[in-house]
Amino acid sequence: MKKETRKVLVVNSGSSSLKYMLFDMKGEKMLCKGLVERIGIPGSRLVYQKPGQDKLIREIKAPDHTAALKEVVAALTDPANGVLKSLDEVDAIGHRILHGAEVFQDSAVMNKANFAKCEKLVKFGPLHMPANLGGVKACEKIFKGVPNVGVFDTAFHQTMPAYAAQYAIDPKYYKKYGIRKYGFHGTSHKFITQAAAKFLKKPVSKVNLVTCHLGNGSSLAAVKNGKVMDTTMGLTPLAGLVMGTRCGDIDAAAVLSIMEAEKKTPAEMDKLLNKQSGLQAISGVPGGDCRDICAKAAKGDAGAKLALEMLGYRTALYIGAYNTVIGGADAIVFTGGIGENSDVARAEVIGRLAALGIKLDKKANLKTHGSTAVISTKDSKIPCIVLPTNEELMIARDTVRILGK
Ligand code: ADP
Repeated sequence: MKKETRKVLVVNSGSSSLKYMLFDMKGEKMLCKGLVERIGIPGSRLVYQKPGQDKLIREIKAPDHTAALKEVVAALTDPANGVLKSLDEVDAIGHRILHGAEVFQDSAVMNKANFAKCEKLVKFGPLHMPANLGGVKACEKIFKGVPNVGVFDTAFHQTMPAYAAQYAIDPKYYKKYGIRKYGFHGTSHKFITQAAAKFLKKPVSKVNLVTCHLGNGSSLAAVKNGKVMDTTMGLTPLAGLVMGTRCGDIDAAAVLSIMEAEKKTPAEMDKLLNKQSGLQAISGVPGGDCRDICAKAAKGDAGAKLALEMLGYRTALYIGAYNTVIGGADAIVFTGGIGENSDVARAEVIGRLAALGIKLDKKANLKTHGSTAVISTKDSKIPCIVLPTNEELMIARDTVRILGK
């Protein structure tokens, strides 16, 4: 008989960090979480935390991801503070993988064939993909015989029709290089779609939503009958909304003009648009941190105020557009660090939605931070809901589903 997939380790392996969360899927209970920071850099640290307890932080040696993962295993099985008797208790591992291109329409077991397919997709995420795949390799070495499942940030968006996903340039670039819209944050949009359907007491296959994931990186998805019709990020996570340090939508000719005028290389331009733009560039707040921008705006700073207006305006613009393409939303859902916590940013967005018959419930908005709540007035035509996302749980759920197939 097939063994039940009960304890699932979720791994998000980045270039110099490895985040982890362990679930008991009976009751979807999180057992512990943490991360290893500064992998391959002097001063590596392990953070380990059980629910309701303080973080334990330890200096460790982590020259590579395998060494980092060994330290995680030691923490999980530690007789004093661990949550497992032995590593054999881990039934499966779910990995966050940035890019599945058109190859992965769903999460998939990371067997040899699928791993090889992923290696061919490194060009779509040269910074993230090697680190994501390195995490899979490290788990194969340490958790011998335990299945690894890849959960792709792009997969949920694979239902977009060609007229939304393709760019209006010579199709040879799509055929030759795969230049098209892929979209990201798919795991969060999927979790939110399921959670919103449950909240609205509708089957996922019948729910129409505009899901707004607003964080350092931000994206919206237009969800019709539980499936993505469009999303704001594109070939890369640079497109769409105004983000912490990313500009979002911009006239491609403006990019060419700056490159020409300032003799910038593609790499320099990439840095300018991804790391030196967005809310940071407009407000002057490092990293474009929304909390700091709100504080600065409250003191009357014009740049910070403009940054918040731009965030609100661009988000509202897309909400209007997406409400149209899905034929009317059952709800507009806010999530992510900003969507869940910033009443100021939400007010900037919802204040611009009067034409959709939506009014902000100011009181409800002010008291909602990191919890589920309706923040529009009762007489609004479309409810606005705040729903905390849980990408790790979505990865664990997908891992169980894929292995149960
Ligand atoms: P990431 O995209 O890196 O996952 P998050 O989803 O954690 O980012 O979102 C980070 C953003 O959320 C930051 O801009 C931060 O300022 C903002 N944020 C978090 N808490 C609050 C809060 N209480 N008020 C306003 N903004 C907040």
